[in-house]
Amino acid sequence: MSGIVVVFDFDKTIIDIDSDNWVVDELGFTDLFNQLLPTMPWNSLMDKMMMELHSKGVTIEEIEEVLHRIPIHPRVIPAIKAAHALGCDLRIVSDANMFFIETILEHLKIKEYFSEINTNPGYVEEGRLRILPYHDFNKAPHGCCGLCPPNMCKGLIIDRIQDSFSQDDDKKIIYLGDGAGDYCPSLRLKQRDFMMPRKNFPVWDLICKDPSLLKAEIHGWTDGEELEQVLLQLISQISMEKDALFMSSDCKTQTLLISAHEPLPKVLHVRP
Ligand SMILES: [Mg+2]
Ligand SMILES: [Zn+2]
Repeated sequence: MSGIVVVFDFDKTIIDIDSDNWVVDELGFTDLFNQLLPTMPWNSLMDKMMMELHSKGVTIEEIEEVLHRIPIHPRVIPAIKAAHALGCDLRIVSDANMFFIETILEHLKIKEYFSEINTNPGYVEEGRLRILPYHDFNKAPHGCCGLCPPNMCKGLIIDRIQDSFSQDDDKKIIYLGDGAGDYCPSLRLKQRDFMMPRKNFPVWDLICKDPSLLKAEIHGWTDGEELEQVLLQLISQISMEKDALFMSSDCKTQTLLISAHEPLPKVLHVRP
């Protein structure tokens, strides 16, 4: 393993548009969605929209068919496969839902490249799709950057991922995202990590207000082609630095071993 964890947002990062909007628009429910949006949180609205779709006779198969047609930039799948082949641990953190994400990833045949999908529960119940909140903050509201939706704080998910690393394995995170919800996790990244915000999208604008608030190195990207270039460049750079570090620590070990066998001619202490 490379010791690199790549965390992808899903909507407008892996796929080129927002999956919730795509399903609602493609099935002709845009007006109802826009009418209800001011009245409830996005996540609750999506659950309600799925109920509306079901009551108007839209089947799960029709939703799946719409998801199978979702636009994705042609360089994103090769980028995911290359990062995986280079030994990176790939994960998803998304405010979409499990049903949409799994349906799309299975259709694209890339689900097995991801070790973890953190998203809102989404499942079929009596022929209708249910979409529930990831967190239940009704009992204990979360206070973070103030921009996270009530159902999901991606910053808390990054905290949990970082807490799962053992002290000495020095794992680095590369985080890719576009939305305002990707700002909270960007603030949690450490100095050794990398933030890849999509240029001129909400997370980019938020970061640009005061980039010094981030400890991680910032590398922007505009589309799937640049996502691939920047991501693979970062992975190879990190791997090279790691190799260099490993070689130098190896030399030190040799010197120490030699030192332990005194007396020896001093010339042996000189590195080749
Ligand atoms: Mg997004
Ligand atoms: Zn948050």
